Amino acid sequence: MGRLFLSSPHMSGNEQKYIQEAFDLNWVAPLGNNVDGFEQEIASYNSVNGAAVVTSGTAAIHLALRHLNVESGDTVLCSSLTFVASANPILYQGANPILIDSEMDTWNMSPNALSRALEDAKTNGKLPKAVIIVNLYGQSARIEELMNICDSYGVPVIEDAAESLGSEYKGRKSGTFGMYGIFSFNGNKIITTSGGGALVSNEEEILNKARFLATQARDSAVHYQHSEIGYNYRMSNIVAGIGRAQLEVLDKRVEQRRSVFKRYHEAFSSIPGIKFQPELPDTKSNRWLTALTIDPNQTGISRHDIIDRLAEDNIEARPVWKPMHLQPLFDGVAYYPHEERNSVSDYLFEYGLCLPSGSNMSEKEQERVIGIINTLLNK
Ligand SMILES: *Cc1c(COP(=O)(O)O)cnc(C)c1O
Repeated sequence: MGRLFLSSPHMSGNEQKYIQEAFDLNWVAPLGNNVDGFEQEIASYNSVNGAAVVTSGTAAIHLALRHLNVESGDTVLCSSLTFVASANPILYQGANPILIDSEMDTWNMSPNALSRALEDAKTNGKLPKAVIIVNLYGQSARIEELMNICDSYGVPVIEDAAESLGSEYKGRKSGTFGMYGIFSFNGNKIITTSGGGALVSNEEEILNKARFLATQARDSAVHYQHSEIGYNYRMSNIVAGIGRAQLEVLDKRVEQRRSVFKRYHEAFSSIPGIKFQPELPDTKSNRWLTALTIDPNQTGISRHDIIDRLAEDNIEARPVWKPMHLQPLFDGVAYYPHEERNSVSDYLFEYGLCLPSGSNMSEKEQERVIGIINTLLNK
């Protein structure tokens, strides 16, 4: 049997049409009709003023930090429980990250920990240049509370919605709350362009500056003239064509992922010791990955038993992201746990598990996964 992935690309069938158009126009380059179209469609889907599409979600975060003039000696707050791409751009700028713990209700940034970090920063006379808030596995953080806290200190927010495209918080799309929102179209995300990302904002000036920096920061002169450091981060017209076709089916993908979650939930939610990542009231998660915790004291098995047993059947399952404050890369970096003696992300990392969640996984394939886990649970 073929390998069953955590999350694999799921094409709509329309991708070739947009790519063909680009070939017909000989617009096999960065910029072009697909780039413009994709940007407008992303903006319209999320009800924001605009989007700048780039080569990756990481690049989009980097551009947001550049726009804020984050530089050596500055600090930036960031969710600790995330993929390293959220925090790496802080290091690209030579700035100092401060890592913030999660809370149990969303698995995302703890308002408690954030408040303590900002209060300390204020006391020390050095507020951070930005706060990067991650929406893990599709679930929105307590974004209103977090925004209010950041606003009260006047610190701008970059919303890392790489995993939460299509999710909602009180009816509003995830990724549209901060001054900057970022999405990823990497191969494992809910929709993919094979690789790519977007920066969204309501401010035209931000998007124009991001596009400028993403095309080598070229001054307006016929000769090539440059006054600041730029990057080659712009999305190509071919890649954007894939994105346009993928965006057409995003809502369908959200429903499919939610169905996958629902089937896992029906199978395991009544088992003592198994807890699924909660969906906060008034939010809708795209359930990019179904994530849960397994308490071995109650279930008799650990998440590693499940990962190893599934691997024997060529099925990919993985632990929850290893928090940044536990990574060798961030050794010695300041960290604010949820409560003085309670680090929630340590718990989630120790017991958390992500199950195969692709929208293209058949019910039969999912039953195979559920069956193997049931056998381990002696059910
Ligand atoms: C995937 C991901 C990114 C980065 O996206 P790329 O397009 O792979 O650069 C950033 N943050 C989180 C939380 C992600 O999962």
